[in-house]
Amino acid sequence: MSYVLGLKCKECGHKAPVSPVHVCEQCFGPYEVEYDYAKMKGQVTRESIARGPKSLWRYKDLLPVNKPVVGFHSGFTPLKRSDRLAKELGCKELYFKDDSCNYPTYSYKERVVSVAISKAVEFGFDTVGCASTGNLANSTAAHAAAAGIRCFVMIPHDLELGKVLGSLIFGPTMVRIRGTYDDVNRLCTEIADKYGWAIVNVNLRPYYTEGAKTHGFEIAEQLGWRLPQHTVVPTAGGTILPKIFKAYQEFIELGLVEKTSAKIYSAQAAGCNPVVTAIQKGVDIIEPQKPNTIAKSIAIGNPADGYYAAQVVRDSGGWGESATDREIVDAIKLLAKTEGIWTEPAGGTTLAVAIKLIESGRIPRDESIVVSITGNGLKTVECVQNELVQPKVIEPKLAEFDALLAENGGDKKPAPKLAAAAV
Ligand SMILES: *Cc1c(COP(=O)(O)O)cnc(C)c1O
Ligand SMILES: [Zn+2]
Repeated sequence: MSYVLGLKCKECGHKAPVSPVHVCEQCFGPYEVEYDYAKMKGQVTRESIARGPKSLWRYKDLLPVNKPVVGFHSGFTPLKRSDRLAKELGCKELYFKDDSCNYPTYSYKERVVSVAISKAVEFGFDTVGCASTGNLANSTAAHAAAAGIRCFVMIPHDLELGKVLGSLIFGPTMVRIRGTYDDVNRLCTEIADKYGWAIVNVNLRPYYTEGAKTHGFEIAEQLGWRLPQHTVVPTAGGTILPKIFKAYQEFIELGLVEKTSAKIYSAQAAGCNPVVTAIQKGVDIIEPQKPNTIAKSIAIGNPADGYYAAQVVRDSGGWGESATDREIVDAIKLLAKTEGIWTEPAGGTTLAVAIKLIESGRIPRDESIVVSITGNGLKTVECVQNELVQPKVIEPKLAEFDALLAENGGDKKPAPKLAAAAV
């Protein structure tokens, strides 16, 4: 059973049938998938969802796919209640939505790609591709390999080795482009037009972006069918942030959660913060920037959906804040040492921003807070390799170990209090 009505322009409301188009033919606004919520009522329930698979496809009724092809093990990642870091920060109810362990390429992108590639197969495409800052390329290459279809990934030339190898291993054609992500994205639009391929984040964008809702659905379901009062989300192209909000709104509409205040906050790196700048200035126009930050996965200077991200932040009563590269690395180390989660700079950015918002009083310490961790630190070892003390090498002799232990404070040393030092 499908509840999809068709495509609808976010700007002028023009409707179009389900097809691989993303720009409104009337006003060039973005198309979005429209559903029949009235028809869903009584059919899509907490119970029907809970009966579904432990993957993002448990929300299939709220996704624009008739027959999933990939992603059967993607999504349904942990919502981890923070213990030690919550104590450090003096927070009552702090959670990490942890997509750093998302399957199979360890980022939030499995959500959007699972939907986009399933849709591409449904539309009959034989070739998929993407414009990516790294994680999207990894996920598109992996899912395309699993689906057995041809794949082109287009990336800026200067990405981290882990991100480059993390795509190449799956056998796509990789195109490294001298330029920023924005240059890559512009080229991909031309490629999609000329070759008629399914570029997941360009001509399949209306379907692709819907997959991001599952991050929000899971937060609400895993919190025991309620909305968090505060959700802190990284912003790159501006896909996930508005879609978390849409997920919350859809659950309210269907009566699956109570309508409560759910403020959404945008986190960006100080070296690329066009959306946060617009939020803080209170303006609608997103002024493009040239990125300069270690947080490469979220370094998009001219975000496609930046306008909508800023709008959702404003409408929900949230705020936007940025973090310097130093603050990002410190937050990566803090999260690892207090919670046992190793995230990449995007997650470091989000945690650093969450801490700023908590310490400035914008997010009250006694309310429920979810921090979105969207990527894995193993792919970006460069940003911490000079931050960690390299261990000494010893001979395999107990005496050498005893000496080393003595140098490290001896046998009875209490567990070090790590968090405070790292903030
Ligand atoms: C892509 C990505 C994001 C967010 O990107 P949006 O385009 O704003 O949805 C966040 N974190 C990581 C690690 C990513 O790869
Ligand atoms: Zn339009």
